[in-house]
Amino acid sequence: MAGLFDGTPLERPVTCACCERPLAECACPRDADGSMLLPGDQKATVRLEKRRRGKVVTTVTGLDPHASAVADILRELKRRCATGGSAGADGALEVQGDHRERVAGILRELGFAVA
Ligand SMILES: [Zn+2]
Repeated sequence: MAGLFDGTPLERPVTCACCERPLAECACPRDADGSMLLPGDQKATVRLEKRRRGKVVTTVTGLDPHASAVADILRELKRRCATGGSAGADGALEVQGDHRERVAGILRELGFAVA
């Protein structure tokens, strides 16, 4: 690739301000509009909710489904809480049982702001 874009700055490819890679190769977290959205800028809310027949689930809302690897996060939560769970299309997660403390801790480890 060296030399291909040599010349004036205007001929250089547009690079990401964060990782300095060409935008086509940038894997930085972005929302649906293409704006940078780092985990720390997403405020996760962890709550306990009651389901039918007295079951409780720990829910996580506030994660951007475009900017965050929601499926990977859910997998990590399920593994570390040793329980089942699911993800909604809007990025909302729920894991079975009351795991608020552990879930909040894992989200903080991943860099999210937790309410
Ligand atoms: Zn980037």
